Amino acid sequence: MNLLSSRIGRKLLGTVTHVVTSEPLVALTFDDGPHPEYTPRLLDILERHSARATFFVVGEAAERQPKLIERMARSGHTIGNHTWDHPSMPLLSGAQRRAQVRRCGRAIPPQGIKLFRPPHGHQNLASRLDVLLLGYQVIAWNISASDWLDYDRDQLLERVLPKVAPGCIVLFHDALYKFIEERYRDRRPTLQAVDALLTRLKDQYRFVTVPELLKRGRPRLRPWYKEADKDWVGKLKG
Ligand SMILES: [Zn+2]
Repeated sequence: MNLLSSRIGRKLLGTVTHVVTSEPLVALTFDDGPHPEYTPRLLDILERHSARATFFVVGEAAERQPKLIERMARSGHTIGNHTWDHPSMPLLSGAQRRAQVRRCGRAIPPQGIKLFRPPHGHQNLASRLDVLLLGYQVIAWNISASDWLDYDRDQLLERVLPKVAPGCIVLFHDALYKFIEERYRDRRPTLQAVDALLTRLKDQYRFVTVPELLKRGRPRLRPWYKEADKDWVGKLKG
């Protein structure tokens, strides 16, 4: 039997894209932070709406902003691992990949479930195995705002709102660690879109962390393999 397509293979090597549940729960996730200016504003917005979220932080940025990491944890948010400095994992050797994950892990507080999100969503079987060896569960998403481009608040909302359903995992960025255009780093449209999303959905959904969502349903595990897009990575600055 092919290990990858077997049930045990899916469980061990699958990547969570969302959770099957009938409960009205949504997990908002924010990558690439913490950012000294935008992350506190996002934390204020989440607090105002009593929403919990999951932050996949870059270790190097987390080490520079320990107070923000502390505030995230104190506010009941979950902090996940997004590597030390945001490389495309398939482009690294196994030793380099494991060092990236370990070093980020040291910059964030220890947690019950160790969660990892691969930068750019790039993942091959070797990189997936490295993360498994380090005891992490890989969390992708099933809704993306594509907020690494220059969409405004309404465009971001249009990309997300119609797709929201129980158990979904939504990808946003509270910072852009690497970027195509300097002007895309402006996170105000994302903050405005999140505020509007929380306002519009407040009577229908509860916003929870990924570990909370995983407890409330059956994780949908997919074979998520996406080789490094060298052209894309080569164009990035930062
Ligand atoms: Zn990222």
